[in-house]
Amino acid sequence: MTETIIKIDLNTSAYENENIHNRWHPDIPMACMVKPGDDFKIECFDWTGGQIKNDDDASDVRDVDLSQVHFLSGPVGVEGAEPGDLLVVDILDIGAFDDCEWGFNGFFSKQNGGGFLTDHFPEAQKSIWDFNGMFTKSRHVPGVEFAGLIHPGLIGCLPSKELLAEWNQRETTLFNTEPERVPPLATLPYGDTAHMGKMVGDEAKAAAAEAARTVPPREHGGNCDIKDLSRGSKIFFPVYVEGGGLSVGDLHFSQGDGEITFCGAIEMAGWIHLRVNLIKGGMEKYAIKNPIFKPSPITPKYDDYLIFEGISVDEQGSQHYLDVHIAYRQACLNAIEYLKNFGYSGAQAYAILGTAPVQGHISGVVDIPNACATLWLPTDIFDFDVNPGADGPTEFLDGSIQVPLAPDKE
Ligand code: ZN
Repeated sequence: MTETIIKIDLNTSAYENENIHNRWHPDIPMACMVKPGDDFKIECFDWTGGQIKNDDDASDVRDVDLSQVHFLSGPVGVEGAEPGDLLVVDILDIGAFDDCEWGFNGFFSKQNGGGFLTDHFPEAQKSIWDFNGMFTKSRHVPGVEFAGLIHPGLIGCLPSKELLAEWNQRETTLFNTEPERVPPLATLPYGDTAHMGKMVGDEAKAAAAEAARTVPPREHGGNCDIKDLSRGSKIFFPVYVEGGGLSVGDLHFSQGDGEITFCGAIEMAGWIHLRVNLIKGGMEKYAIKNPIFKPSPITPKYDDYLIFEGISVDEQGSQHYLDVHIAYRQACLNAIEYLKNFGYSGAQAYAILGTAPVQGHISGVVDIPNACATLWLPTDIFDFDVNPGADGPTEFLDGSIQVPLAPDKE
């Protein structure tokens, strides 16, 4: 039987578990050690450590303490791993706990987190998604059901001292260009809510003051939120410290490319089954700076899409030069406007784009002045025909059965 090397109790605080941490620092002690070739299971809190509840009130999303995230399980040390090696990680399987077969998706308030479309959806809202085996649907978003492309949003190795210093230097420089911005340009170190795993006392306090937040993806991987890094994937991570120090968390039952809703994909607590191996000196051998990975042999099969185009002209009609961020935003907004014709609210359509196996593509970045991005919406996830036709769209939802996304209540 595969050993579960990190266990959690969803009824206790993540802060009480010494095998959990929520910052990146080279001195965080290993939670446990494994050998190359070993496979093992790790249990994970949801990324907020249980702050979001399975109910119809989004006040918890509005009031979430984002300085606490992400709660990661680890670090797992691998015997013989040294800086410059590649840690090869096979994701053998991922699942929800038997007594916790649900997840959440939400939009943060613009005042507390924001998100990709925060100017269009500035209030906190959420939807709850129930799992039925490999499928999911939501009482807040009728008319859709899909197979989950389950994956860890966040996985990576501990940084070296030098790499951590580089992260802090460059992110502080960016932050300081507009320090009052809401939401902020970057999340800088913040000691008060740091959980440094097995490290305690003054040592932990000092390390927490410089430890990196877990929000952005970086050279080590981290919070990449790549939906295709699913069970069956093989990932090659750069190693920066003795033992590697692999940590994982932020499990997603499903997500659309871009994780545009930010809170987030379909977020869940659960377990992940991994196997580790080493390629000695692999970073230099293969000139690897950021992780590389192989996709899963098994993915949900959605072959038919409605594809929405977007260009780098913003909502006010201003022209931007080859700006892929703006082009993808326009493609997403175009898809949301389209889906509203079928009876969805804008918020429900936004939630679909954040949760379903939607593909995002950078289609063109050379045709000055417009970048072109495309949003691929799978048509088979809908209970009705979402394609355009001569008769025009039929509202499949009448007002009586339409359930709004949960708003925040005072
Ligand atoms: Zn997530």
